[in-house]
Amino acid sequence: MKPTSVLISGGGIAGLTLAILLKRMGWEPTVVERNDAPSAEGYMMDFFGSGWDVAERMGLIGDLNAVHYPIKRIEFVRGDGRPYMTVPIERISRALSHRYVYLRRSDLERILFNRVRNKGVAVRFGTTIDTLTDRADGIAATFSDGTQGEFALVIGADGIHSRVRDLVFGSQRSFMRYLGYYVAAFHFPDSHHDLGNAVKIHEETDRTAMFYPLGAMRADATYLFRYPDVGHVPAGDRMALLRKVFAGAGWIIERVLDEQPGAAPVFFDSATQVAMPDWYAGRVALIGDACGCLTLLAGQGSHMAMAGAYVLAQELERAATHQEAFAAYQRFLKPHVEKRQRDAAWFSKYFVPSERSRPWLRRLAVDAIFSSLGIGLMMGQFGGKSVLANYK
Ligand SMILES: Cc1cc2nc3c(=O)[nH]c(=O)nc-3n(C[C@H](O)[C@H](O)[C@H](O)COP(=O)(O)OP(=O)(O)OC[C@H]3O[C@@H](n4cnc5c(N)ncnc54)[C@H](O)[C@@H]3O)c2cc1C
Repeated sequence: MKPTSVLISGGGIAGLTLAILLKRMGWEPTVVERNDAPSAEGYMMDFFGSGWDVAERMGLIGDLNAVHYPIKRIEFVRGDGRPYMTVPIERISRALSHRYVYLRRSDLERILFNRVRNKGVAVRFGTTIDTLTDRADGIAATFSDGTQGEFALVIGADGIHSRVRDLVFGSQRSFMRYLGYYVAAFHFPDSHHDLGNAVKIHEETDRTAMFYPLGAMRADATYLFRYPDVGHVPAGDRMALLRKVFAGAGWIIERVLDEQPGAAPVFFDSATQVAMPDWYAGRVALIGDACGCLTLLAGQGSHMAMAGAYVLAQELERAATHQEAFAAYQRFLKPHVEKRQRDAAWFSKYFVPSERSRPWLRRLAVDAIFSSLGIGLMMGQFGGKSVLANYK
């Protein structure tokens, strides 16, 4: 087999990981990325498990450890900002054998992008695929900049609203499972909110806010709220919706929104999973959120995006045909993704307090989950171990 030209739509976590691995194996990947440049800002993520494993196999651990935020504790705070429960980060890190970092999605993307650039992979920013035509001997693509090209394979790594999925598999609504929340994330100047070196979480019925210190008087805010599925919210309406939903919220939650300039948050979307019967068709396959979005409620989307890229690259390298490779990739990874989707869907009922929640019971549960024993058990059950541990 060994076709050389692979078009990858999406220069995010999955797409860049795949490009690096294919290039290393002697293939010729081309990445098209809708944005004009790598993201400068982005939400915070926990990175461990399968993601850490792939990063280690790619020699990226030094880069991951070099990303450093002044985060020492997680504090659950009351309406006046005083903590009622504190979890040392060291406890979580120890449960994961110190194979764990906090970083922003944009940090991970930058690490991968630097590697892609050093390897000489072509990344065409500000470009998307217009059409794809599957031919007997390849696949023809036309692009938003008016150019066209022929490729042996096309990989859709273009995230939850994948263009490749739309083009090849049809209407996206049928693959979407809304989990009942919207999420927004943005950076803000933190000169007077006194976050210190703790992630601070304030929970109220149907709405939660998390604040992460980024250092140099900057912080990241992540707002999560229960809301009916209203589909896509236009950029210009997002701040107004957030302010409406979080009106009257305690601690600094409302103030941070009021102080934010009129611009929309950097990230705003619904928590929606993507579940499809098949992840490939003809010469096209999907990876990452495009075919198996877990949502932030799983806390492992980037891990599985990297694991998907890794498994697909391995299978393409060793199978006789791309059909065999795509089938083996799906056979191995899909059950792992589906388990995490089921876990996240179950967890979604409890992630943010509801009217039925009993605050004292919730505190007991959170306290138990974040005890040394609880974290060890939870990580054993939910993603602490790499899915690639037994992958040959
Ligand atoms: C608030 C929040 C918190 C999260 N926390 C965690 C966490 O703690 N741990 C964790 O592991 N995961 C977490 N995740 C999930 C994780 O970020 C995603 O699962 C992961 O980024 C998926 O990688 P991906 O490459 O498939 O998609 P993305 O990272 O979304 O990348 C897709 C790329 O494709 C590009 N693109 C989109 N459309 C097109 C197009 N038409 N043409 C070309 N390019 C296109 C996009 O610009 C983007 O660069 C979180 C997610 C959110 C929203």
